[in-house]
Amino acid sequence: MTTQKKIYEGKAKIIFSGPRENTLIQYFKDDATAFNAKKFKVLAGKGEINNLISEYLMQILSNNKIPNHFIKKISNREQLIHQCKIIPLEVVVRNIAAGSICKRLGIKEGKIFKDPIIEFYYKNDELNDPIVNNSHIISFGWSDKEELFKIKKISLKVNRILKKKFEKISISLIDFKLEFGRKTSDDSLVVADEISPDSCRLCDVNNKEKFDKDIFRYDKGNLVEAYKKLLIRLGII
Ligand code: UDP
Repeated sequence: MTTQKKIYEGKAKIIFSGPRENTLIQYFKDDATAFNAKKFKVLAGKGEINNLISEYLMQILSNNKIPNHFIKKISNREQLIHQCKIIPLEVVVRNIAAGSICKRLGIKEGKIFKDPIIEFYYKNDELNDPIVNNSHIISFGWSDKEELFKIKKISLKVNRILKKKFEKISISLIDFKLEFGRKTSDDSLVVADEISPDSCRLCDVNNKEKFDKDIFRYDKGNLVEAYKKLLIRLGII
């Protein structure tokens, strides 16, 4: 692990100061949490896999001119990233009904949405990340109208690109969560945090095998083995 100064420790990652101004080091832990950390387990190898998958998916965003915080992978568990001021929102894009939308709105799991649905959640563990709307976000100053428009546009573009990428390997992108930040160097908007099977729902189009954190949430098998299979399907290893 780096000897740089620890700045923040989250549920699945640690952020350290970076080697240069306006950079940070993002370290992927093996810790798995669910239900706002009520469920917790250390799953050996998860951090390394998520580092690889997030690197791979962020590079796909870069190749498609979608600004993001990723600079380069620097070790098995660490990546160099642009320092950002994180916007306190979780942006969820849904193609198929699963998880909280089913419980909250009584939607049948597996319903395919005609157009992707975007939802915003306020990042606040004490409040259990409540769902919020545009008015809350603008009124409380978490973002403004113009930036929120960009966030939605980028989220839908990420969805189009990743959905297609996964479809090519017969995997369905059910939903995923993005976080956004503003780079400390120039205040520009970027996709931040991680994009990994911890923050997406993915399942095989044919046999419905899962490759995401629901395996851990609902004790559906060996999560690390499933993530490894995803690495292979994506051609990363
Ligand atoms: N998600 C996430 N972090 C969160 C909440 C959700 O990465 O704190 C992801 C989750 O893995 C899924 C999508 O966002 O891919 C939608 O999650 P949902 O709202 O259905 O909540 P959940 O069922 O995970 O509680």
